[in-house]
Amino acid sequence: MKEKITKEFTARFGASPTHVVRAPGRVNLIGEHTDYNDGFVLPMAIDRAIWIALRPRSDRRVLLHSLDFGDPADFSLDDIQHKKGWTEYLRAIAWVLQEQGFSLSGWEGVLASNLPLGAGLSSSAALELSLLKAFWTVSDFNWDGAKMAEFACQADRDWVGIQSGIMDQMISSLGQENHALLIDCRTLEFNLLPLPKQVRVIILDTATRRGLVDSAYNERVAQCRTAAEKLGIPSLRDITLDDFHAKADSLDELTQKRALHVISENERTLKAAKALQKGDVIAFGHLMSTSHISLRDDYEVSSPELNIMVELARQEKGCLGARMTGAGFGGCAVALVEKDVAEKFAENIRSSYQEHTELQPNIYICEASNGVKVLD
Ligand code: ADP
Ligand code: MG
Repeated sequence: MKEKITKEFTARFGASPTHVVRAPGRVNLIGEHTDYNDGFVLPMAIDRAIWIALRPRSDRRVLLHSLDFGDPADFSLDDIQHKKGWTEYLRAIAWVLQEQGFSLSGWEGVLASNLPLGAGLSSSAALELSLLKAFWTVSDFNWDGAKMAEFACQADRDWVGIQSGIMDQMISSLGQENHALLIDCRTLEFNLLPLPKQVRVIILDTATRRGLVDSAYNERVAQCRTAAEKLGIPSLRDITLDDFHAKADSLDELTQKRALHVISENERTLKAAKALQKGDVIAFGHLMSTSHISLRDDYEVSSPELNIMVELARQEKGCLGARMTGAGFGGCAVALVEKDVAEKFAENIRSSYQEHTELQPNIYICEASNGVKVLD
């Protein structure tokens, strides 16, 4: 990809780029729907990413071509206006950095990606982090990985106008090769945890996309807030499973189920982190599978295709655990599989899922990769 994009840059600008930056997509291994409850998530950065080749300009113009879209971004840092389309992310990042008081320089570049758009691998966060890094290479400001993730989140919220949790930006910023990242979504403290060498993380895209997810998502957020209020705690992060069982009667049945998922998922995520630290992939896989059942039955955010995918995965030899990943209602599942059988697993799932659903899945055997970086 680095070569491809360097060539593209040279073809367009008639000289070599001064920098190439790369920011990865991500998959969440466990800790689903916990982020907006001040809880814990455990994603890893994947070996699919967005690359930008660039060079500084002497003026305050920013010019960027994406190989995946027709219309380039082209604007002045002195006059940032809203505009529809992918370039809105670039304006958002320029806006947030200047809003934070950073003094920016102009640049020109070419962007290429091998992350599918809207598939739940967070191409948008990869885009934001690659743009932050691009500005950093030509401007003069300090790089703090967690702060940059917060800026990207602020850009989403206050410029693009989408509510997003902080997980995607944190992992695209701070991921590390062969590691997953435990993130405390309240304090933004994070811990890198080694992924045992004998397993592979495999993303199983059901080839279905979430439909009316926004309303269902907002409903879950509201139910969690109600549950926390009735339990007299700031958020569902602040109660143990035992305490919850003692007090659950104060909630109606549906709210109990929603709260139970979040509270148990937080405990599972912390247990999963401990399991990783010990290299206990059996325990980790088991927690993934339990997470799926909780998302399916208590939080009710799975879908028939996700359930089929997870069931098929779990029946395969060498599969240690599987679950839906992301917001749900479609998109991807993730499985933990013994390394030696990963290819075979992918092959078998491809045909068995197709047999059951008549849909063609996309399957990605992943390596945990580095967070955003300027490439040598
Ligand atoms: P996801 O983050 O799950 O992939 P989103 O809908 O949040 O899906 O983000 C996809 C959007 O991110 C695209 O519509 C586009 O605006 C932007 N984007 C992603 N990849 C690229 C790319 N290669 N070039 C330009 N914009 C991109
Ligand atoms: Mg996104």
